[in-house]
Amino acid sequence: MRGRIQGEKSRSAAGAGRREKEEIMAIREVREIGDDILTKKCKDVPKMTLRTKILIGDMLETMYDKCGVGLAAPQVGVLKKIVVIDVGEGPIVLINPEIIETSGEQTGEEGCLSVPGKWGIVTRPEHVKVRALNQEMEPFEMEGEGLLARAFCHEIDHLYGQLYVEKAEDGLHDVTYEQDEEEETEE
Ligand SMILES: [Zn+2]
Repeated sequence: MRGRIQGEKSRSAAGAGRREKEEIMAIREVREIGDDILTKKCKDVPKMTLRTKILIGDMLETMYDKCGVGLAAPQVGVLKKIVVIDVGEGPIVLINPEIIETSGEQTGEEGCLSVPGKWGIVTRPEHVKVRALNQEMEPFEMEGEGLLARAFCHEIDHLYGQLYVEKAEDGLHDVTYEQDEEEETEE
C-alpha cells in the first residue's frame, strides 16, 4: 500500500538501518494494474524455506525502495500468502494472515504501488485484528488501528486478488505534481 499521499514521508529510519545490515536483499519488479497475477488468489505458505526467506527480504527492500507502507507477494509476481508492512513503526511480516476481528470505520486516501500515480477514497475498519505466522512459522495475533488497520486490509485483499480500485468510492484521482514535489523535498 502507498499511504500518506499528501507527501508525508513514509520511509522509516529503521528501514534504512536494515538495508545496511542485510546485504543480500534485492529490489524486485512491482507488477502493475492490468497484470493478471494481481487478480489471482494466493496459496498458503506450508513451511519456511530459504527461497521464502529471500522473498521476504526482497519484499521489504522493494517496499522501502518505493516508499510504500505495505507490499503483498503477488505484487512481486509470487502467489504466496505473504505481506510486509511498515507504517513507520518498524517492519511487520505476516505469513498466511487472516483478519479475525474488525470494528469501527475510517474513510480516507489509499494508494498502491501497483497503481502508480493514483489515489482513491476507501472506507475501511478503524480497528483490525489479524492472526498470522511469523518468519519462524509461529502463530501470533496483532491489532492495528488507523493506517496500520488500513494496511492490514489493503495488503490481505491483495492475497485474494483484490485491488483497492474496486473499493474506491469516488473513482481514482491523479497524484498532483505539487504532492510529488513535496515528497521529494522530504527525502
Ligand atoms: Zn496495494
